[in-house]
Amino acid sequence: MNQFLENQYTKLGISKEVLAFGAKIEEELKDRFAMIDARAEVNQLKVIEAMQKNKVSAECFNISSGYGYNDLGRDTLEKVYADCFKGEDALVRPQITCGTHALALALMSNLRPGDELLSPVGKPYDTLEEVIGIRPSKGSLAEYQISYAQVDLLEDGSFDYEGIKKAINEKTRLVTIQRSKGYATRPTLSVERIGELIRFIKGIKPDVICMVDNCYGEFVEEREPLEVGADMIVGSLIKNPGGGLAPIGGYIVGKKECVENAAYRLTSPGLGKEVGASLGVIQSFYQGLFLAPTVVSGALKGAIFAANIYEKLGYKVVPDSTESRHDIIQAIELNSPEALCAFCEGIQAAAPVDSYVTPEPWAMPGYDSDVIMAAGAFVQGSSIELSADGPLKPPYAVYFQGGLTWYHAKLGILMSLQKLYEHQLVKID
Ligand SMILES: *Cc1c(COP(=O)(O)O)cnc(C)c1O
Repeated sequence: MNQFLENQYTKLGISKEVLAFGAKIEEELKDRFAMIDARAEVNQLKVIEAMQKNKVSAECFNISSGYGYNDLGRDTLEKVYADCFKGEDALVRPQITCGTHALALALMSNLRPGDELLSPVGKPYDTLEEVIGIRPSKGSLAEYQISYAQVDLLEDGSFDYEGIKKAINEKTRLVTIQRSKGYATRPTLSVERIGELIRFIKGIKPDVICMVDNCYGEFVEEREPLEVGADMIVGSLIKNPGGGLAPIGGYIVGKKECVENAAYRLTSPGLGKEVGASLGVIQSFYQGLFLAPTVVSGALKGAIFAANIYEKLGYKVVPDSTESRHDIIQAIELNSPEALCAFCEGIQAAAPVDSYVTPEPWAMPGYDSDVIMAAGAFVQGSSIELSADGPLKPPYAVYFQGGLTWYHAKLGILMSLQKLYEHQLVKID
């Protein structure tokens, strides 16, 4: 290894043993990393093509305030998103506060009282339980007489086609398909599998709206869900497509009518997309989208590196060391509270921000056990930046994701291992 590099790792606190172990694993991953780079190249070109086609110019970075009428930067960015993700139209706004808000907006604007929402892939992301009203909540879809049906995946992770067919009825208006497993144990869906599911559903009811919760999935593959028949994709800008630079925001891309409905709900009937000042954040949206393909590739390499390191050490990792990837989340079952805390300590110690603090488990609202979280991010709560968290209960799984660069993700993972090693929780040889 390059002497300068070794010295630098030593200065940051990585021991020779950990470094050598990591180097061996990295060497074995060369071919996979090359595939990820090739995919990032396709996606990088896709983004540039969309920017060129829509004539992104310096004027697009001007700051609008007040009503934000004729905001060229905002309107052009929405065309860029539409082209990049292959939709007819897009809504990309700082007024969409997070992923949950974007999803709630897409649902509430495209459903009407008496309609039914169907999830054919099991329970959706935690925060959507209150949006839908699975857990009673003020303003939920349930309060507006929008009912909900759910069909779980079969034990082996496949779609319950029989059950889905039975669940689709005259009230079914919108189907929500979550691409990433989030923090559940089911497998993440590839774009191809999402396409199969949509074809099946549209075969039964052609006019049903198929929405994909695209959080954590953007730029992981060469294709996005709109290319396999989805009507609308929804996500957060403090995850993949914001490239770590967007300080806030969410997006909805898809059929013109779906996006229009969302716009009239976000602002007001009659106003729709015409208002909504961008307040100076729009340049970071462009720049973040521009960087997103390489940022996502770094995060993916980090996830695969971690899976291989910890699997080799005997831990259960999900996805496993060789599986194909469809989102950027990695889970590792660490089997003890000490190991979980040490792992998070390492991720925190490797951060560019707040590296000097030690994460402590605490009782977070909504959880039935203490939770530990590690994050040293430029954008608060951003999970495209390297971050880790896990509930202090068996199997003491840590969920980790992100990394704005591969080198930072690598340092974080080596540091997690360093802490386990220092606390004598693992043996490496
Ligand atoms: C993160 C996430 C959400 C919610 O996004 P927030 O920005 O945290 O509100 C919804 N669905 C999935 C699959 C996610 O990963």
